[in-house]
Amino acid sequence: MDLNAKAAYIRGLMTGMEFDPASKNGKVIAAMMDLLEEMAATVTEHDDALDQVYDELEILDEDMDDLVSDLYDVDFDEDEPEEEGIYEVTCPNCGEVATVDEETLLNKELVCPNCGAAFDIELEADEEPEGK
Ligand SMILES: [Zn+2]
Repeated sequence: MDLNAKAAYIRGLMTGMEFDPASKNGKVIAAMMDLLEEMAATVTEHDDALDQVYDELEILDEDMDDLVSDLYDVDFDEDEPEEEGIYEVTCPNCGEVATVDEETLLNKELVCPNCGAAFDIELEADEEPEGK
């Protein structure tokens, strides 16, 4: 039973027990009932919205993975067969080629194991924007 159904159930109990909303106690309980229904509706609404956000986030995550492998498969697997999710990057400071996994890659900032320089990875698209 979801929250809205539970609130409706309590509302039904109130109606069924000859509840007097004009009495002293009744006023409080009626006000609480109103609040309960409103809260149940709001929480349910937020829950649904959150579900939707998670779904969209998952899709974005998959798109991101596709994008990263598209970009780096083209540039980095000339010499040797790559393991899945492993990429080679060239240090702009010393020119040493380092191997990184996808997770490190997505953190964007790398430290060269050879010279210790920190550098950002630039995700460059294959296509140059048109127009001169
Ligand atoms: Zn280096």
